[in-house]
Amino acid sequence: MTVGFWFRRDLRVTDNPALLRAAADGEVLPFFIRDRSVRMATFRRRRFEAALRRLDEQIRAHGGAGLWIMEGEFTAVLALLQAQGVSSVFATGEYTPRGRRRDVRAHVAARAAGMDLEFHDSPYLHVPGEVRKPDGSRYQVFTPYYRAWLTLPKPEPESGVVAWWHDRELPQPVDPGLPDAGPMVLLSTLLDERLARYSDCRDRLDLDCTSHLSEPLHFGELHPRTVWQAAAGQPGSEGFLRELAWREFFADAMGARDSAWQSPGADQPDMADDWHEDFEAWREGRTGYPVVDAGMRQLLETGRMHNRVRMIVASFLCKDLLIHWQPGARHFLEYLRDADVASNNMNWQWVAGIGPGSSAYYRVFNPVRQGLRFDPDGDYVRRFVPELRACPGASVHEPWQHPQGYADGYPQRIVDHDEARTRYLDSQRALRGQWN
Ligand SMILES: Cc1cc2nc3c(=O)[nH]c(=O)nc-3n(C[C@H](O)[C@H](O)[C@H](O)COP(=O)(O)OP(=O)(O)OC[C@H]3O[C@@H](n4cnc5c(N)ncnc54)[C@H](O)[C@@H]3O)c2cc1C
Repeated sequence: MTVGFWFRRDLRVTDNPALLRAAADGEVLPFFIRDRSVRMATFRRRRFEAALRRLDEQIRAHGGAGLWIMEGEFTAVLALLQAQGVSSVFATGEYTPRGRRRDVRAHVAARAAGMDLEFHDSPYLHVPGEVRKPDGSRYQVFTPYYRAWLTLPKPEPESGVVAWWHDRELPQPVDPGLPDAGPMVLLSTLLDERLARYSDCRDRLDLDCTSHLSEPLHFGELHPRTVWQAAAGQPGSEGFLRELAWREFFADAMGARDSAWQSPGADQPDMADDWHEDFEAWREGRTGYPVVDAGMRQLLETGRMHNRVRMIVASFLCKDLLIHWQPGARHFLEYLRDADVASNNMNWQWVAGIGPGSSAYYRVFNPVRQGLRFDPDGDYVRRFVPELRACPGASVHEPWQHPQGYADGYPQRIVDHDEARTRYLDSQRALRGQWN
């Protein structure tokens, strides 16, 4: 019997329980359905293509004919699958609002066509909705969620392999992607070189201290089961695994939403009529605040951005420029190589002060102080802002104080941070009806 396996955010052949479940029923025909409606800038697209190519190679290395890549909705590919003799399909569960809606549509279409469609497992250690308060409700705040999350037993990676792949050629082009360190290389670098000093150094912008696992985790090239098993109990692992719990906390919160774009609770003030101008300056890294501009240019030039800089630039957009979090989050999703709707949108809301257990609304990042603290020698800024390379050391964070600060065309500040902070806090008090 031929069984379809629909790869989505689980682009790996090992430690994949849903795939093993499919293999228990017969020969596995692996496929992926492209969604052309998702906007992807070049680096994100290349990273995605690299993940597909790696999966295709893994399938071939295990004796299969490769990954069958199709286009459109599941409903549109049903007939193609049936023509290959597929009578049932398995997939890993998806928990974003859009993913859930797609899976309901797919389920209905499969049933109408007389085909079984089953979902197993998830991209998380604990499926969204699994970590509950004693009264059965969801946690709204991270720390108690984290405490409960830690006490639950963690699943072990699956060790089985698929014995029987569909091996007749189904020719499909897979574009070559960027060469990239594979997920297992990143994991061993983390364990050998980074974990022990992770908590001390993770916020430093100028040093490369974090795991870079967000991309493989997003694409499911690596499951957090494997990361947990490798890291738990190692010196320094506590701070690192706490970050993995943030990923699960946000997925859990998103799992309870009907839309990834909902803004629960207090919202942001109205935007100015000319907000597009400020938004373009932010997007292109022309705000006149060095650490903000370095981050935004890093995103455009590499598709990556350090977590601390993501917080700084998001705070700057929402609080200094009074622009709604949504256009910022959409820009991130288009450009980030690790773009992940749950992690991205929930972090944006957290920074904007409106998400579950979010940062206090009155916490406004000071981009100069953040730069001085987390890029103390200015190396990060100079790497991405060439107009400031004449400013040595930490002086790069305050070009207005340096004689060479504007010599090479670096833009003036588009807002004064202190005034912007006051404007934001006033608007929040008006919205929230508080004068504290
Ligand atoms: C505004 C904003 C947008 C973000 N958008 C995304 C996104 O689209 N995709 C994404 O994966 N992460 C996002 N993050 C979270 C975080 O910035 C990245 O996960 C992290 O920078 C990835 O680098 P790393 O793998 O080296 O992280 P490490 O520091 O090594 O952390 C280990 C893992 O923990 C998880 N993690 C760490 N911090 C967070 C966090 N704040 N929230 C959720 N999970 C976390 C990630 O899976 C990460 O790979 C966003 C954060 C902010 C503030």
